Amino acid sequence: MTESIFTKIIRKQIPCHLLYEDDLVIAFLDINPVRLGHSLIVPKIQVDYFVDVPVNYYQAAFSLAQKLAPAIQKALGTTRIGLSVVGTEVPHFHLHLIPIEQDRIEGIRTFGNAAVLARQAELIRSVLNQA
Ligand code: AMP
Repeated sequence: MTESIFTKIIRKQIPCHLLYEDDLVIAFLDINPVRLGHSLIVPKIQVDYFVDVPVNYYQAAFSLAQKLAPAIQKALGTTRIGLSVVGTEVPHFHLHLIPIEQDRIEGIRTFGNAAVLARQAELIRSVLNQA
């Protein structure tokens, strides 16, 4: 099986704007955010389709979503986070956490400015670490 880009991130072969990781999951900012604060939660096992993900990884991903969303809200001042599973681009199951503004979740993707993403990741990590 070809390594997904997310497996390469998990193995530290390519960088990411890390928010959190443990034995089962990793969370980092989307490199091409729909909204500022757009984050991904990825299980540390490469499985494409959500129905095939082992339940402990699946539960760990959703459990982290419940902790990470309030941290993103507090760090970036957003009122609500949308949660979605898409999987059209990267064949490695992941959750999208996307701040909702003016009742809309979609936005125009602009390539994430590395300095802005780094600052956002730092803010979100600091809130998560207070919890
Ligand atoms: P999808 O597979 O349709 O759920 O979308 C995959 C998401 O992964 C997209 O929002 C991409 O912007 C994001 N993405 C792809 N490569 C990277 C990367 N190296 N670091 C962070 N996010 C990425």
